[in-house]
Amino acid sequence: MRYCKRCCYPENAKPTIIFDEDGVCSGCRYHESRSDADIDWDQREAMLARLMEQTRAEARKRGAPYDCIIPVSGGKDSHFQTWLLTTRYGMNPLLVAFNHTFNTPSGQRNLENLVTRSGCDLLRITPSPCSVRKVSRFMLKRVGDLTWHYHAGIYTVPFQVSARMNIPLIVWGEHGYAELTGMFSIKDFVEFTRWTRKQYDMRGLDVFDVVNDAGNDIELKDMASYIFPSSEDVERVNMRGIYLSNFINWEAKRQTELMIKEWGFAPVTYRRERTFNLYSHIEDHANEVHDYMKFLKFGYGRATDAASREIRLGRLTREEGISLVREYDHVEPSTLSTYLDLYEMDKKEFYALFDAKRDPAIWTRDASGDWALRDACHRQDMDQGHEAFRPAMDAGDHIFAPHNRHLYYNPALPPEPSGDPRLDEPAMKFKVL
Ligand SMILES: [Zn+2]
Repeated sequence: MRYCKRCCYPENAKPTIIFDEDGVCSGCRYHESRSDADIDWDQREAMLARLMEQTRAEARKRGAPYDCIIPVSGGKDSHFQTWLLTTRYGMNPLLVAFNHTFNTPSGQRNLENLVTRSGCDLLRITPSPCSVRKVSRFMLKRVGDLTWHYHAGIYTVPFQVSARMNIPLIVWGEHGYAELTGMFSIKDFVEFTRWTRKQYDMRGLDVFDVVNDAGNDIELKDMASYIFPSSEDVERVNMRGIYLSNFINWEAKRQTELMIKEWGFAPVTYRRERTFNLYSHIEDHANEVHDYMKFLKFGYGRATDAASREIRLGRLTREEGISLVREYDHVEPSTLSTYLDLYEMDKKEFYALFDAKRDPAIWTRDASGDWALRDACHRQDMDQGHEAFRPAMDAGDHIFAPHNRHLYYNPALPPEPSGDPRLDEPAMKFKVL
């Protein structure tokens, strides 16, 4: 396996990663391109300001109480998107949450915090837990993803609300694929499209593909939150989905620190099983299991994602990143049992699902049937020209510096408990509401 000479990504990283002739990945090159001299962030922010002004003027003309929709989960990005639009641009957004039902106590705490602190209204759509169980179980078996319904709901429900309430603009935060693996160029100003929704967010499967599949008991009513509005509705309302990361220089850590200070967003304080990051995806109870499945398929997990990002930003050396990948990426999460109980499945059955889904480029099976990784970033020879691609370190902001102790888990200096058990203790069970 080839690994990026700058970060920790393997060449088989998903959705799509490309290595250039130097052996540096497209995610690293995308990251560089965000600081290109020819990207004028002031000008982009001025474009956003004009768009927000127009949006407000049009809402006033319609006599509408809400200017736009912000899809929220209660995480750090929801806080930042809402804070930015309300305090900097004077918008009155309607917050729309698709409740995937696999909530953590810390996520519930932060969603309540967001609604309380922002002064915005929240519309939360909760599908029946029975439907969620059916869909999630089917997708686990079909595509090896128990959180398919998250993306399906998150990228559908805001448009359903847009159609119903006649609110044209939906404001997303970061364009995740572009940032991680460099699938798009920052110069593209990429907007939400139905094509990426189906192809990437929903793994090529739409509602009718699922309902018409004979191998399940899913009915149309189980899929109500995933039915995209009709083309007529899209045109009538003039729907548009934009990403804030095209207009402002998006940086999750800086924004999280701001939200802790301004609005009381709270990271967790316990050691997480699959990542050292204490503020990302903390609202998602199935995240550990979901991420573990990525490891079973492609041989890498969230520690690779998180370490690669920090390396690009100069807050972690490649060597330190690799040692974190080695510590976290292979760990089977203890919440796996919660989901196996939910699906009435045993561990053997679970692992057997992945026999056909493991990427042969990274996994090999021995005579006794045990799987082993063919390669790992920590097995690479570090003298192979990596030095030339090392980003400059941000000397004042190493992730394990004392001032970052509440954002990244450092065993030598763990975070101080908050006193709130929702933030201080991992939960084995998820909360539906
Ligand atoms: Zn890279």
